[in-house]
Amino acid sequence: MQFIETRGNDGERPAKVTFSEAILNPSASYGGLYVPESLPDMSIGFLSEYLQSDYKTLAFALLQAFEIDIDEALIHEALERYDRFDDPNNPVPVVAVEEDAYVSELYHGPTRAFKDMALQPFGVILSALAKARAEEYLIMAATSGDTGPATLETFKNRPNIKVTCLYPAGGTSDVQRLQMVTEDAPNLKVIGIEGNFDDAQSALKELLASGEFRKALKKKGIKLSAANSVNFGRIIFQIIYHIHSYLELVRQDVIALGEEVYLIVPSGNFGNALGAYYAKKAGLPVRKILIASNANNILTEWIETGVYDIRDRQLVQTESPAMDILKSSNVERVLFDKFGPERTKELMDALNDEGIYRLTDEESKAIREDFAGVYSTDEEGEAVIARYAKKGYLMDPHTATCFKAYETLREENLPSIIYSTAEWTKFSPTVARALGIEADGDKEALEAVSKALNVPIPRVISELFDKKIVHDTVVKREEIMKEMLDFLG
Ligand SMILES: *Cc1c(COP(=O)(O)O)cnc(C)c1O
Repeated sequence: MQFIETRGNDGERPAKVTFSEAILNPSASYGGLYVPESLPDMSIGFLSEYLQSDYKTLAFALLQAFEIDIDEALIHEALERYDRFDDPNNPVPVVAVEEDAYVSELYHGPTRAFKDMALQPFGVILSALAKARAEEYLIMAATSGDTGPATLETFKNRPNIKVTCLYPAGGTSDVQRLQMVTEDAPNLKVIGIEGNFDDAQSALKELLASGEFRKALKKKGIKLSAANSVNFGRIIFQIIYHIHSYLELVRQDVIALGEEVYLIVPSGNFGNALGAYYAKKAGLPVRKILIASNANNILTEWIETGVYDIRDRQLVQTESPAMDILKSSNVERVLFDKFGPERTKELMDALNDEGIYRLTDEESKAIREDFAGVYSTDEEGEAVIARYAKKGYLMDPHTATCFKAYETLREENLPSIIYSTAEWTKFSPTVARALGIEADGDKEALEAVSKALNVPIPRVISELFDKKIVHDTVVKREEIMKEMLDFLG
């Protein structure tokens, strides 16, 4: 299968590329993104064929159906990364929390957040491709929390890839910071920057736009790739677990094959939701995808009104920081799928130039055929955490935003799959506050919640507090380029 561009072709780049090309060099013409030319058929025939398969078998079949230009042996090697999850036979458990609400737990990987679902296998493939071409790639991440640890974890000691990770010093949780600064490998560099996440992100953008920096990279023979969800190599692995979760409900006798469900996705950059959309389009019986947001409710507004307007918006810091986003990158892939490249370019240009675009009524209706959206405040999220903890189910603040969608957006009482994107242990101070437990800092909060509710803390989290800090660099924004170039040698 070939990959095409969301904003059309500029006449300089190839109009179609292979999967390998799309993931090594993910920036398409006019600042657009790569998308598959078509989707494989994963409706009833496919679903019944893989109904009894384990996760890796299903994943392999799906990647085969996309006809990607990756050797079978390499795909198998990449999928073996799921063997490092809590239960290698079932890396994504789906558990009932209500009669018709099932939580699909996407956080059982090494960094305890859903980013592992895609980044773990993706890292193996990207590194092998770079090595086969004898090329060196640099991945530059700016993180507010979960992407950084997952990116470092998948690429550590991998050949032909170097990773730099910028985080706001003082702007992440202790657990998230420790997951980064204790990651010890010669191909990784973690840099704290004085400021908030916006500062880290704009420092990264500045660097990417800098001619001096690009020239220096070229001289060193280093190319740039990306590991965020603009890279289709992330998205393809985020289609699998939607299908798996559906089949799990069939296996658990909740539904018969073919019956419709709702998928409820806590969203930021819309990568998880896009995976759900592709699964639905490929034939998974999904009534609608319900998009949960926090106080940064740009997606709710977009789905309800068809207007994407960031002109007067300031990013609000919430207790679900991985969803604190205004420009949600993967919405573009939905626009392309529904309205084609010319219209997508027009809309994205308007957003970049004027900070706003408006869909027509008809276009807006087409979005609502697949999506509905609602947002929760931090207080509403904390109340959900407390309510379900009492019933014996502990969740993190991102997952908690889904329950308002579950309660208010369903038009029918169909079974619903709620995606849990992080383990509570990554956000223990918020969870402790929600439960009325007093604790100062992550370590105390972890121990207090664990004791009060008798839930375990996984070793990868508890051990962080005794690990050696390898990366202690914290610099001002102006010093980042020098710091990076020193690291690249
Ligand atoms: C990244 C992340 C999200 C948002 O996912 P998108 O694919 O960017 O929409 C939600 N929750 C957690 C915990 C995350 O790490």
